[in-house]
Amino acid sequence: MYFSNLFAPTLREVPAEAEIVSHQLLLRAGFIRKSSSGVYTYLPLAWRVLQKISDIVREEMNKAGGQEILMPIIQPAEIWLESGRWHVYGDELFRLKDRHGRDFCLSPTHEELVTDLVRSNVSSYRQLPLYLYQIQNKYRDERRPRFGLMRGREFIMKDLYSFDRDEEGLNLSYKKMYDAYGAIFKRCGLDFRPVEADSGAIGGSVTHEFMVIAESGEAQIVYCPDCDYAANVEIADCLPSNPDNKREDTIKAKEKVATPNQTTIDEVTNYLNVSADKLIKTLFYQADEEIIVALVRGDRMINEIKLQKMHPSLTLEMASAEKIKEITGSVPGFVGPVGLKKIKIYADEEIKSMVNAVCGANEEGFHLINVQPNRDFEVFAYGDIRMIEEGEACPRCQAKLKMARGIEVGQVFKLGTKYSEALGAKFSDEQGKEQLMVMGCYGIGISRTMAAAVEQNYDADGIIWPISIAPYHVVIVPVSAKDDFLWEKSLEIYKELQEKGIEVVLDDRDERAGVKFKDADLIGYPIRLTVGKKLKEEGKIELKLRWDKEAKFIDLQDIAKVVMDIIASGMN
Ligand code: ATP
Ligand code: MG
Repeated sequence: MYFSNLFAPTLREVPAEAEIVSHQLLLRAGFIRKSSSGVYTYLPLAWRVLQKISDIVREEMNKAGGQEILMPIIQPAEIWLESGRWHVYGDELFRLKDRHGRDFCLSPTHEELVTDLVRSNVSSYRQLPLYLYQIQNKYRDERRPRFGLMRGREFIMKDLYSFDRDEEGLNLSYKKMYDAYGAIFKRCGLDFRPVEADSGAIGGSVTHEFMVIAESGEAQIVYCPDCDYAANVEIADCLPSNPDNKREDTIKAKEKVATPNQTTIDEVTNYLNVSADKLIKTLFYQADEEIIVALVRGDRMINEIKLQKMHPSLTLEMASAEKIKEITGSVPGFVGPVGLKKIKIYADEEIKSMVNAVCGANEEGFHLINVQPNRDFEVFAYGDIRMIEEGEACPRCQAKLKMARGIEVGQVFKLGTKYSEALGAKFSDEQGKEQLMVMGCYGIGISRTMAAAVEQNYDADGIIWPISIAPYHVVIVPVSAKDDFLWEKSLEIYKELQEKGIEVVLDDRDERAGVKFKDADLIGYPIRLTVGKKLKEEGKIELKLRWDKEAKFIDLQDIAKVVMDIIASGMN
């Protein structure tokens, strides 16, 4: 490819909304352009990267026994009504009607459609296990589309669905996919970690997310430096830490004290001269139609995902100030569990052992001190409903946990029979008895993986593509396009590399070398060959690897071999 023919419009200024590096660089270097919020065009360079990621994914899926198909993007509402997700999915589902007024949606995922396909075409145990996958656009009307390709409303996903005879078969399929995912992200040159995760709206029990470690990641994970435990903080188990074991001897009588204008944890602890772990934080939630209360220690954060597991509901949101006023007669900041009637109170395990605690008095301007859980208020259920923190004990080996941020590039789920039951996907076993198929599903965000690769591989000058997914391997820069000798030689090298199957761009522009170098660094080709005066003087070409500071000089006749060796090693 001649650079002058390449459709890669670079930008000098990136829009302010591009907050993270991958978004900025992919725009600046001419990889993507926005069409509408969370919807992008992939320009030639991006499309090449996406194809490379897809090829790696395809190879590993096929190796694991997957068969590629392509399902429709438009899905009829009926199957979503059958699974019950037409209503559960809420506003994230792009819904549309055809000219007859029939309901459809744009696919956010394909559990329903693939189960429908399999229930009508697979009937015997002999046809199982079956692994079907596709690579295709998905549509989700995200609440906050942002960070460019990271959280789009249209994005490319690989989704594979496994159908097995039984739980044992599913476990095997899950293991195969888990291992294939490891191989894929390794081949893409990413630093990643599989973590235990929440199964969310999709259902099922066991699930892992594959996280690319990066500061800009939206997910927070904990991991153990000593064993292989790693989990999304959303589900990471907290061992009940209990600094109050050294209980004060005397349990005192409850007392109301004035705390005018002291509403935050900091204000109350300062005013009453107590530490935050003496406070009970009282949170009101609207769980579908019901109001519930959650209690965590003043120094802790509530974990809403754990709370929702204890109190299953379709929606869980903080209750409005008006609702809180209606129930307690007070404003948030002065509320507490004492005296609440007919409301389920869920308390974190740590609340149980608190002695002489402080909480709001359900009266503006007042708090209660010397409050005793169970003596002064009744708890509906205790459980682990708080966020884990750095340095807490690993639930497996007790070592101190560390935290990192991650980008979720893939997720594997054991679905079990949730969808086969809802849609009636059955097969007859060896005895001729009807059984439900046992399913798994496995997604990879192809477009998000491209953005994640940039988040891990860049410097002040631009992108540094891992060789395996680089849009082109090599750029050739003749320092002067006007010098016939240099141009002829550049063209010779270009042709030779092309013949050897190397993906190469020849920067044929009549620009200063510095301008070409800048663009080469911005786009992030792994290998840059500069054809300049050293060729005339000593017969050498300058070879610079994008991630190295120093260049090397290689004899002209060795260039193809050296370049091929670098690409074959796949190292950077
Ligand atoms: P998230 O928690 O980030 O919203 P998810 O858990 O809902 O993602 P899955 O249903 O597990 O996503 O989808 C499989 C993969 O698709 C994810 O691991 C992610 O890589 C990718 N993905 C999901 N949502 C988006 C999106 N809005 N934009 C780009 N990629 C996405
Ligand atoms: Mg996910």
